[in-house]
Amino acid sequence: MYLNNSKQVVIKIGSSLLIDNNKKIRKKWLIDFAKDIELLTKNKKKVIIVSSGAIALGCKKLNINKKNLKLDKSQAVASIGQIELMNLFNEIFKKRKLNLSQILLTLEDTEIRRRAINAKRTFDNLFDLGFIPLVNENDSIATSEIKYGDNDRLASRVAQISGSDCLILFSDVDGLFDSNPKVNRNAKLINNVKDINNKIENYISKNVSEHGTGGMKTKIEAARICQISGCYMAIANGLINRPIKNIISKNICTWFLPKISKLDARKKWIISSISPKGELVIDDGAIQALKKGKSLLATGIKNINGKFSKGDHVKILDKNMKEHARGLSSFNSEEILRIKGQHSSKISEILGYVSKSEVIHKDDMVEI
Ligand code: GLU
Repeated sequence: MYLNNSKQVVIKIGSSLLIDNNKKIRKKWLIDFAKDIELLTKNKKKVIIVSSGAIALGCKKLNINKKNLKLDKSQAVASIGQIELMNLFNEIFKKRKLNLSQILLTLEDTEIRRRAINAKRTFDNLFDLGFIPLVNENDSIATSEIKYGDNDRLASRVAQISGSDCLILFSDVDGLFDSNPKVNRNAKLINNVKDINNKIENYISKNVSEHGTGGMKTKIEAARICQISGCYMAIANGLINRPIKNIISKNICTWFLPKISKLDARKKWIISSISPKGELVIDDGAIQALKKGKSLLATGIKNINGKFSKGDHVKILDKNMKEHARGLSSFNSEEILRIKGQHSSKISEILGYVSKSEVIHKDDMVEI
């Protein structure tokens, strides 16, 4: 039901779902998976796929073994395999008229606000264009100390920065059990987890059978991120055919429930930086527009105080210096000094380069 209620869904699939132990591509599974994605898009859901497999497919192409790969070599292999990964998806998805795009992210792209805001805008524009973004970590660029290394946590951060309603992580088991399901036939599947407490931690240590880069541990870390992002997260069995249809019809999986609403999470994220770096004083017309849920445009800005960079958190004040809202600025303070009071269509001409048309996008703003 959580999936049914979601408008925007992130689905993460691991390398082992795409390639079996004998290095054979699991084409039939992927063909069925495309049907699952079609089911979601036909139900007007926006879908983001996070898929691993670049290194595994690169190894397959070069006929080398993943195990003995050094980091720098694996980065080159990922670059080779990423094309294979996209080609594989594209070949199968285009048969169902599903359009794919590629986004490669590093850890910093999700940590640094300015980059995270840009990424969100790109996701939104891709949805408007009717494309399904396929995300992977930018393994060729990310070095070990600034790397996720597992796509479970990457997927949860993608869900967070894109403002998605739910994340599905596929595993080789049905979800989290109260003991190891591969050893104990009476192991019970946990349906809902509200709080990752000692009892749950204890179950995790018993569910050691889960393979993959991350295993159950990184899935739980992903769940912690989702819980504070207002995003529902499921661990479900991906090895079966039509795994998404299976969640919709049977709900056999473990759901981690968010601790706060998505809106509150975003508000918190926006105002969580240490302190506002500056102030924008805006006219009455702009205040009215903001009250109607519109973005803040340069034309409504009267004055600006402080020095700040793009992506910084600023206060929005009315002409009596009363605080009205807070938001993340799409321009730095020097740029705003040059464009304040001007019509959006003039911005590129004044600055000499193409940029955003809003100074603070409505999604990056909270009323106080
Ligand atoms: N990004 C890596 C790849 O595409 C995989 C990371 C993971 O397995 O979680 O090969």
